[in-house]
Amino acid sequence: MTQTKRSLAVLGSTGSIGTQALDVAARHQERFRVVALTAHSSKEKLFAQVRAFRPLLAGLTDRRFSLSDVPQELRFCRWVFGAQALKEAAALPQAQDVLVSVVGMLGLESVLTALAHHKRVLLANKEALVAGGALVMKAAQAAGENMLLPVDSEHSAIFQCLQGADGNAVKRILLTCSGGPFRLWEKDAIDRATREQALRHPTWAMGQKITTDSATLFNKALEIIEARYLFHVEPKQVQVLIHPQSVVHSAVEYEDGAVVAQLGTPDMRLPILYAMAYPERLPTGGAALDLFAVRELTFDPPDAVRFPSLRMAEESLLAGGAACCVLNAANEVAVNRFLAEGGGGGMTVGRIYAVVEETLQRAGHMPADSLTDVLEADRRAREIATSLLG
Ligand code: NDP
Ligand code: MG
Repeated sequence: MTQTKRSLAVLGSTGSIGTQALDVAARHQERFRVVALTAHSSKEKLFAQVRAFRPLLAGLTDRRFSLSDVPQELRFCRWVFGAQALKEAAALPQAQDVLVSVVGMLGLESVLTALAHHKRVLLANKEALVAGGALVMKAAQAAGENMLLPVDSEHSAIFQCLQGADGNAVKRILLTCSGGPFRLWEKDAIDRATREQALRHPTWAMGQKITTDSATLFNKALEIIEARYLFHVEPKQVQVLIHPQSVVHSAVEYEDGAVVAQLGTPDMRLPILYAMAYPERLPTGGAALDLFAVRELTFDPPDAVRFPSLRMAEESLLAGGAACCVLNAANEVAVNRFLAEGGGGGMTVGRIYAVVEETLQRAGHMPADSLTDVLEADRRAREIATSLLG
């Protein structure tokens, strides 16, 4: 296999995904050159990364910062501030690949910019695909084959299971889910749950937004939508399996009944590096999967009564238009409030479900045919959700 060095821009380099991507990039310096790094406000962390990777461009999206905040010794690269940082990093001529690992739907424009500039997009930011699925897939198709590679562990697993499919149709996608910290809780207790309870994820260590989504199962709801777009399947072809061991990262069922699954330890460096080095497999530095230690793999059906997020995803996909964008925006607004207030003032998990459900009803049908449509639906949904939260 050819051993070419690929150049990589990392958007959201200080986050959970971003730092793990830099960890594997440092491990394989002969294979990856990091050419752009962006963070929002973690400036000291970004400065350390710039010192270590010496990119061509670095950016802080928080508008409070300017060049005067940057130490003299780090001014060897170009510094960009505010939203322009994401735009320039996504379009940097020297970048072949763009890892979009910012959190939230603001990643959508970066994904579209990178694809329009013929970059290969390594997509961690699932909210972009949920909000603008049709637009993103159209742009990816126009950019060429395998120009949008999934980083989300389940979607990476599905993508890995599809290698060698040779045009054989997929019958079903089996999307696994750890079940999160409330897997065995009664409905009333889940509805009353607070930030501290939601942030105790049993198997994965991740950023706060996705950890909260993993507790409400909005993460799995977003992933059903993500799978529908990435793999061109109907919503009814996606089956969620509650699998608390987080060993089977997802599976594909073919017409002959064969189920091909990808297994591994819960370590995001594998799906990140798989996308970075695709189609090659390189060592991640993580521990090997010890099936003797795991011993048992269990699978249970999901419960859409205790976790109404799953039902809302299915309904939004059926409703079409911008419903998935509305669902995502309302969830982002509610989760931001939940993280800020920590369960005080009645801002509990049940309130997140109620706000998303009510926003979906009030927003009604909106189109999602263009970026303008999607941004307008997102704006409107945020306005409704914010007013519901008071
Ligand atoms: P984190 O919260 O850990 O990191 C988010 C990154 O985005 C940070 O670099 C942060 O900068 C930056 N950021 C935050 N706000 C803004 C903003 N307003 N504008 C621009 N950049 C911003 O998130 P994760 O790494 O956990 O998740 C990133 C994405 O990957 C999410 O979409 C998530 O759903 C997805 N994902 C994550 C997984 C995981 O294991 N963590 C697994 C699968 C998918 P700063 O540090 O300065 O705040
Ligand atoms: Mg996932």
